[in-house]
Amino acid sequence: MRVLSVASEVYPLIKTGGLADVAGALPPALAAHGVEMRTLLPGYRSVMARLSKRPKVLHRYEGLLGVPARLLAAKVEGLDLIVLDAPSLYDRPGGPYGDEGGKDHPDNWLRFAALSRAGADVAGGLLADFAPDLVQAHDWQAAMTAAYMKFSGITVPSMVTVHNLAFQGHFPAEVFGGLDLPAEAFAMDGVEYYGGVGFLKAGLECAWAVTTVSPTYAREIMTPDFGMGLDGLMTRRADTLFGIVNGIDTEVWNPETDPHLTANYSAKSLKGRKANRRELDMVFGLDPGGPLFIVVSRLTWQKGMDLLAEAADDLVAAGARLAVLGTGDAALEGAFHAAAARHRGRIGFTLGYDEPLAHLMQGGADAILVPSRFEPCGLTQLYGLRYGCVPVVARTGGLADTVIDANAAALGAKVATGLLFEPMRADALRSAVRRIVSLHADRAAWTSMQRQAMRADVSWEKSAALYADLYAALIEGSRT
Ligand code: ADP
Repeated sequence: MRVLSVASEVYPLIKTGGLADVAGALPPALAAHGVEMRTLLPGYRSVMARLSKRPKVLHRYEGLLGVPARLLAAKVEGLDLIVLDAPSLYDRPGGPYGDEGGKDHPDNWLRFAALSRAGADVAGGLLADFAPDLVQAHDWQAAMTAAYMKFSGITVPSMVTVHNLAFQGHFPAEVFGGLDLPAEAFAMDGVEYYGGVGFLKAGLECAWAVTTVSPTYAREIMTPDFGMGLDGLMTRRADTLFGIVNGIDTEVWNPETDPHLTANYSAKSLKGRKANRRELDMVFGLDPGGPLFIVVSRLTWQKGMDLLAEAADDLVAAGARLAVLGTGDAALEGAFHAAAARHRGRIGFTLGYDEPLAHLMQGGADAILVPSRFEPCGLTQLYGLRYGCVPVVARTGGLADTVIDANAAALGAKVATGLLFEPMRADALRSAVRRIVSLHADRAAWTSMQRQAMRADVSWEKSAALYADLYAALIEGSRT
C-alpha cells in the first residue's frame, strides 16, 4: 500500500505538539505492515535547512493558488518526504503558524490551503513515481486535502486524522475566492461553516473516513460537551469515525538507555530512580522526602492547570512535593510561581520547554499528574507508564484508554497502572492526591504498580496494525 501523509509538522524536523510525534512515528511503524508512506510537509525555513543543496525537483508549479512553488523529494532521518517549497508562504522567521511574537500569520488560510491543494494533486497522480492508494491528512492545516480531492473528482480514498478538535482553522468567507474551489463547495457539505470557511470542518465533511487519537475521544466528540460545535457532524459520521491511540518512541523513551537520566534503570531494578530523584530535588530546589509529583505540560485550561494550582496547597499538606515544568497562559505561570514561593522546598517550578529535563522528571518522580479537561490522547502519561512514574489522570479521552485505575480489584489482580479521577474539579484532584499518597506508603503495592505500568505496551506496534487494517479496508472499499 502506498499512502500519502499530509502534515504541517513532522518530528524531528518541526514540532509544536503531539501531531508532529505521530506524523514522524507512523511511517517507520507502518513499514512493518507493508505500507510505503511518504509525507508531504511545508518547506519552512528550518525544514529547507535540512535538505541537501540540490534536492530532486518532483514538480514545478507556476502558480499554486497563485504562488510559485516546487515539490522536492528528500530523505531525512529515515523519512521519505515531499517538501512543498513555496518561499513566499513558508520562508519566514518564527514558528510554523505564527511570527516570532507568537502571533498567527494573517495568510495561514493560504499557507495551508496550498499545502492541501498540493496534497490533492499528488493524490490525483501528479508525480510519476508515486501514486498513492490512500491519503491521510492531519488536523485542520491539512484537512482541506480531502475537500480538494472531493471537488476535483479524485477517487483515491481520503482520511482525516484529528489530533485536537479544539483547533479548527476558521476563516472569513472572503478567503473562499482564493481557494480555487468551485462555487458549489461553499455549502454545508463543503467548506462553509457558519457563514465563513472551516478548514477542519471541510475535511471532516469530505473525507472517506475520520480518525482521532483514542477510542474514548472518538466517542466524546460526538457529544456537545466535547464536540466544539462539530458534534452533530461527528455523530452523522459515527460509522466512519475511528479512534486509534497513539504510541510513543520506545527507543527515545527508554529508562534503560536514556542519556538524560542521572542513573538508568529497568523494571527489574528500580534502584536508579533514587539518584534521579536526588538530581530532581536539586534542580527544583526541593527538600528530600515525601512522594514527588510532576507536571510536564502546556499551562492551559485544557490541561486543567488552574485546578492543579488550586489544589497545590492541599498537595503539600498531604506530605507530597510538586515539580512543574511548562509554559503557557501568563496567569497560570504566575499561579505556579506564587505556589513555589509559598511552599519553598515543597513546590518547584521551571518555566520553559526542556526535553532533557522532562526525561529526568519521568525517571525520578513518583507520579505524573495529568488533570486535563479533555485530552484527545495525551503522551506524558505514556512516558509515565514507560518510566514507572505512575500516572494520576483525569478520566477522559486517551487518558481513560491508557491507564488502569488502582481500584481494589485491579490492585488485587496486580493489573493497576495508575489512578483515574473524575469529575474534573479541584476537590476530585485533591482526593486523588490523598489516595495516591496513601498508596505510596504501601511500598510493596506501590512497587508492584510501578512495574505493572512499565510492562504496559505503549509502543506503536498495535496501533500501526490498526491503521494498516483501516487503510486496507478503505482501499478495498474503493475498488468494490
Ligand atoms: P499536547 O500535544 O496537547 O500539548 P501531549 O501530551 O499530546 O499534549 O504532548 C505534549 C508533548 O510535549 C509531550 O511530548 C510532552 O512531553 C511535551 N512537553 C510539553 N510541555 C513541555 C515542556 N515544558 N518541556 C518539555 N516537554 C514538554
